[in-house]
Amino acid sequence: MKRLRHLFILPTLVLGLASCGDPPPVDHISTLYVFGTKVEITVRGEDADLAKKATAQLDQDFKRMHKDWHAWKPGELTNLNRAFAAGESLAVTSFLKPLLIQAKTFENLSDGLFNPAIGALISAWGFHNDEKPKGGLPDFNLIRDLAARKASLNDITIDGDLVSSSNATVQLDFGGFAKGVALDRAEQTFKDLGIKSALINAGGDINTLNGPDADPWQVGIRDPKSWGVIATLDLADGEDVYTSGNYERFREIDGVRYAHILNPATGMPVDHIVSATVITHNGALADAAATALTVAGPKDWHRIAKKMGIKFVILVDDNGTVYLNPAMKARIVFNPEAKITIIESAPL
Ligand code: ADP
Ligand code: MG
Repeated sequence: MKRLRHLFILPTLVLGLASCGDPPPVDHISTLYVFGTKVEITVRGEDADLAKKATAQLDQDFKRMHKDWHAWKPGELTNLNRAFAAGESLAVTSFLKPLLIQAKTFENLSDGLFNPAIGALISAWGFHNDEKPKGGLPDFNLIRDLAARKASLNDITIDGDLVSSSNATVQLDFGGFAKGVALDRAEQTFKDLGIKSALINAGGDINTLNGPDADPWQVGIRDPKSWGVIATLDLADGEDVYTSGNYERFREIDGVRYAHILNPATGMPVDHIVSATVITHNGALADAAATALTVAGPKDWHRIAKKMGIKFVILVDDNGTVYLNPAMKARIVFNPEAKITIIESAPL
């Protein structure tokens, strides 16, 4: 029988640890604050000194990532954005270059719904990841004009270490998948240090490390309206789970809510209220896909998930309608008290 050993309340997920063994392995839990969010790290069944060393290493790595991948605070990325605006090329470090390549792959895989080149639009709306938005509505003519310039990672040329853009509107903002990239790197650091079982949780976006025979980590999915746990599921064999939604971070201007996830084609915030959760073995892909599927919404999520190669998806809208693929349905346990309507798609 599985037993829930502890339960955390999170912005988007509730999670715990499903464990069959008795006595349970020791957990070392620590908290870091980066990316404008709390990162909770659980190292399971290791020596306390190793857990401490691993967490200290992550703290250092995360701080560098936060600085150098920041879209508007001085760092490597802002230098690059300045070069793009000026029509110049700039040499990038081996720290940033793989991110550009990954970003381009995910943009194309998502049919442009995930587009980290739309930093100018994000900035015009005042949606900077770790700060509270301020100011009034942006000028809609400016938004339309920026969107019409179709900033894309495909405008970027990488020649050795030199990077340039043929489109001066390109401004990179990695807010839609930086957490995933960071957690993937953290996972690798843990593996390199010999840690076998761990969970890294950045505000409900989670990477896990676990062998196929270990007890799975258990997570919960909340609905975007009443915050109840509508379902739980187990993560096996190092799976990662990411949620994106436009119901938590938004700005309200004159009684209208504008969500922080934009439709790159129009430059406007996504107007349906939905949360998209995906499971894969790659945090960066999961993060990008969750953002893309939030943009795609109930009408288009299946096509985009298929294109991105995602095998497990669940979307929840503000009416309590749940959209999921059969493989996701098969592994999820719904809370019998949740008032939801389930719409099962064709297989992915
Ligand atoms: P969260 O950071 O809340 O987990 P996401 O992973 O969806 O949610 O990231 C949202 C952030 O991604 C926004 O704050 C913005 O910086 C950026 N963003 C907004 N719209 C898009 C988009 N269509 N494609 C890529 N990035 C986006
Ligand atoms: Mg995302």
